Amino acid sequence: MLIKFYKILKIIQFYPIATCHNSTLSTFINCSYSSFTHTMPVKPTISRVYSQFNTTQPSSYYDYENLSLQFTSPKQYEILSKLGRGKYSEVFQGINIQDHTNIVIKVLKPVKRKKIKREIKILQNLAHGPYIIELLAIVKDPVSRTPALISEYVDNVDFRTLYPTLSDYDIRFYMFDLLTALDFCHSKGIMHRDVKPHNVMIDPQTKKLRLIDWGLAEFYHPGTEYNVRVASRYFKGPELLVDYRYYDYSLDLWSFGTMLASIIFKKEPFFHGKSNTDQLVQIVRVLGSEEFNAYLAHYQIQLGSEYDDLGTYQRKPFQRFVNESNQQLVNDQVFSLLDQLLKFDHMTRLTAQEAMDHEWFDMVREEKMVN
Ligand code: AMP
Repeated sequence: MLIKFYKILKIIQFYPIATCHNSTLSTFINCSYSSFTHTMPVKPTISRVYSQFNTTQPSSYYDYENLSLQFTSPKQYEILSKLGRGKYSEVFQGINIQDHTNIVIKVLKPVKRKKIKREIKILQNLAHGPYIIELLAIVKDPVSRTPALISEYVDNVDFRTLYPTLSDYDIRFYMFDLLTALDFCHSKGIMHRDVKPHNVMIDPQTKKLRLIDWGLAEFYHPGTEYNVRVASRYFKGPELLVDYRYYDYSLDLWSFGTMLASIIFKKEPFFHGKSNTDQLVQIVRVLGSEEFNAYLAHYQIQLGSEYDDLGTYQRKPFQRFVNESNQQLVNDQVFSLLDQLLKFDHMTRLTAQEAMDHEWFDMVREEKMVN
């Protein structure tokens, strides 16, 4: 009760009382509170980059609900083994018996048809893009009659095995490729919204990287409020955790930043929340309460009551995560990059292109330009 009353007092301090004409304390509080909820919404933002891409496209580009699916015969594909199972799909390794190539068969669970169409339309729009998994065909699963996506296969090594073996150079190399994929999809008006190690397939033999699982990806339309129930907990940006819905492509750069931090510091995951609420606590413990409060005030974000006991924390510099096991991977340049990616304020986070221009990538950028 005390906390609630304190919160109301904070609201009174924060907002003008011009709309209140009654002078008794209770009506004053009620009036201020209701004028807050109705007239002081959060401040919307528009992406700093590629904000108008979809606006300039014909509606057939983003209007996925009207997509008509072209199925091919499932006969030429055979299942070899099961690769994994997600919330919305079962994934198998298979073979194309016509050309003997390895393929992946993703059998979608009977989710909403709209969601299936969105994933397919997005994969079609991104076809042949750099480091984007290629959709080869759509078939109907003969048993369940639900659509199955046939895509290229990557001889992936699980990240828990692979990441600890990577050298400083390898990390820069793969992270640059991942940013290239992100910049490409953003430049095509699409946010991935589920960037995490499980969705980055890497074959270390051929150094091939592919960004997979576009099931949560969405078209970016400026000024739109999006669902915050996207991304996996450890990779969720602060905007999702504080229910700020005007997010954009910059969400993917947060997830990317948490991935980079986990690889560099050999701390998997980097922000290890036990629940969505605790996830934000873990972030504030590192980035600091002062920075967090400035962010909330800037966008006029009101925290839900689940955060009443958030606590107060000093910013913890990234240098404090250095230990014997990771010291060969860290340097001032990567701290600078992480500082600019892991920002509460999505508008000040580096974009994918800006991150690629960061000096930490100088050595791989130069080599990739030569090849
Ligand atoms: P997904 O539901 O798309 O995230 O896929 C579930 C799991 O299947 C992934 O975590 C991978 O282990 C595996 N997988 C999915 N796509 C591929 C692919 N193109 N190549 C190799 N393995 C894949």
